[in-house]
Amino acid sequence: MSRYTDAKCRVCRRHSSKLFLKGPRCYTDKCAMEKRPFPPGSQKGSRRRLSGYGLQLKEKQRVRFMYGISENQFKNYFEKANRLPGVTGENLLSLLERRLDNVVFRAGWADSRADARQMVLHGHFLVNGRKVDIPSYLVDEGDVVEMSPRGKENKKIKELMEEEKAPSPAWLGTGEDGKITILRKPQRGDIDYSVEEQLIVEFYSK
Ligand code: SF4
Repeated sequence: MSRYTDAKCRVCRRHSSKLFLKGPRCYTDKCAMEKRPFPPGSQKGSRRRLSGYGLQLKEKQRVRFMYGISENQFKNYFEKANRLPGVTGENLLSLLERRLDNVVFRAGWADSRADARQMVLHGHFLVNGRKVDIPSYLVDEGDVVEMSPRGKENKKIKELMEEEKAPSPAWLGTGEDGKITILRKPQRGDIDYSVEEQLIVEFYSK
């Protein structure tokens, strides 16, 4: 099995963290983490104390589920991050952010990364004028992402583009022309969720 298919909210509850896997519902009081912020099957307030290894594993899984990628893919990202100059943990987060499905989500063109992934798979986006239907495609500085002719006809995407949304991260330029320009590679300061990437580095460094 390459991807987790169980109820998404249980994943958040198990990791004691909002992972924003269900689109608009995540921002409402219907969010399971607002109503039951404790692991499934446990009593309210009871939590197992984790060992050092347990904490590392949990952080790795939390980030992996957030981006919706398989164990093998995640490990490959880590190995790539480790080969790059700079700080491995920061390189890892930057690589994850540069995935095309994440860019579409960050720009507000999809409700969740899972939706963005589907849209990319259906060929709704062009990168530098060429169709790219690979969610893991890594964008680079100067790349321009835009809707394909097919994407422009998609009702859901049209509605999302017309909606008022939170500003995109500083490394993405989103203009009125319906294009996203990658202004620079994402840096540690652009990551807007809490993450202890050092734990992930320690997990893979054993
Ligand atoms: Fe997680 Fe969203 Fe479900 Fe809340 S609604 S528990 S953030 S998937």
